[in-house]
Amino acid sequence: MADALREYRNLVGGELRTAEGGGTLDSVDPATGEVWARIPRSGAEDADAAVAAARAAFPKWSGMPAAGRAHYLRKVAGVFAKHAAELAELETRDNGRTINETAKRDLPGMTYLWTNAAAECAAAVEGRTVDFGPGSLGMTRREPYGVTLGIIPWNSPISTFSAKAAFALAAGNTVIIKPAEQASVSSLRLGELLADVLPAGVLNVVSGLGEEVGDPLVRHRGVNKISLTGSVETAKLITRASADALKPLALELGGKSPNIVFADADLDRAAVGVTTQAIFTANAGQICYGGSRVLIQRPVYDEMLHRMKEIAATVRLGDPMSDETTMGPIVSREQFERVTSYLEIGRKEGAELVFGGRFGAEAVEDERFAGGYWVEPTLFATEDNGLRICQEEIFGPVAVVLPFDTEDDAVAIANDSSYGLAAGVWTSDLGTAQRMFRRLETGTVWVNTFRKVMFPLEGVKDSGYGHDSVLAYTREKAGLIEF
Ligand code: NAD
Repeated sequence: MADALREYRNLVGGELRTAEGGGTLDSVDPATGEVWARIPRSGAEDADAAVAAARAAFPKWSGMPAAGRAHYLRKVAGVFAKHAAELAELETRDNGRTINETAKRDLPGMTYLWTNAAAECAAAVEGRTVDFGPGSLGMTRREPYGVTLGIIPWNSPISTFSAKAAFALAAGNTVIIKPAEQASVSSLRLGELLADVLPAGVLNVVSGLGEEVGDPLVRHRGVNKISLTGSVETAKLITRASADALKPLALELGGKSPNIVFADADLDRAAVGVTTQAIFTANAGQICYGGSRVLIQRPVYDEMLHRMKEIAATVRLGDPMSDETTMGPIVSREQFERVTSYLEIGRKEGAELVFGGRFGAEAVEDERFAGGYWVEPTLFATEDNGLRICQEEIFGPVAVVLPFDTEDDAVAIANDSSYGLAAGVWTSDLGTAQRMFRRLETGTVWVNTFRKVMFPLEGVKDSGYGHDSVLAYTREKAGLIEF
């Protein structure tokens, strides 16, 4: 049985390779709790090999005319167009995200993302000229950093991989991607598909544990820029580990996004916006900008809560590969235990459980999935934003509902958070919308919508800084010529 498991390999220097030490890690299907694939457990030697390959490929890739790089990136977009269904299925199997999300939402967008990156190759090499008077000309040119490292989380691997690789490559960098150990399969398969599409060493994919292969990559003198999407704890480790070499970092981290419903809002829209759009069917709440704190103005509090419960009751847990399933499992046992521990914490803190709360086999009807990591859509209600369930990122389908009276109250509660990734506002008043946009301390504010991603998705406070875009993967060099 074990021998039948598919074993994936790293992509290093254009070759598919097992880890130098021969080690592997099991990849678990979170819908069943069963091992379904194996991935390389890479270490420092694999990190060295990936950096050497990326460095060797850098002069030719960065020296190529922008139109040449654009040509390659369009070929990558073509790979997505051809293999989208396969990649979507692998990702669904590996991290439990429903096929509705991977096949219909994520993968189609990747063709656009890579095509768009191809179109931006020229902008990445545009400089400026400054006239300093006769006989003196100032100018700038944009240059790539060199070898960039993209460290990605498990919750949406292909899109995070793509945002880091496509823009960095467009700017003339070569790239190493380190996927998360809980869900590396779709990234490794993408590496396989691109092995013959991109020149050797331009893109490398190396899987394994953060401390075993991520850390050596972060510390490696041959890596020139790091972009992490992950947790605050990992961001701090990476900041310390890269400090000696003063490496530029981009840190896209967690969130505890407020989703604020004013009494004048269109309640039909808002009810969908604060439930399925923001937290429940949205990757089972495993999204960094999930609207996990729902603030409701008191006159419509009871009505909104009633509607939210009605919508939560329609969420269908079950086979992630089925079109009818609207919410999948939690990605891993460890994360499942973390999410369910917050159900206990919420109760102990005195929050009222107003919907859901069941987990494991009790949360899913289909017996085939009894061993999976299921958590029901869950709603707590409280007036105290200081509770741990209101302050800490749970990263599961658990939202807290809080009442507020005035706009000032809403702003105070919303900004009372160590995070600052995104916020939602539901109102029919343009003035309220505009004031809230200014007053909320978050990188993104959505009004009368949620989770429509615009680039850059950049946080403030503990949600990090920096983002992935073509220009963010270049630096501007200044020159002054006198003649
Ligand atoms: P994580 O921080 O545990 O892991 C992220 C990546 O870092 C993994 O690839 C991991 O192997 C690697 N890593 C861990 N320790 C490392 C080390 N010492 N050196 C180098 N690499 C190391 O995060 P996760 O649990 O995979 O993902 C969930 C987190 O990601 C949540 O906090 C979520 O909010 C955040 N996230 C943020 C965004 C965003 O755009 N802001 C998007 C998705 C997820």
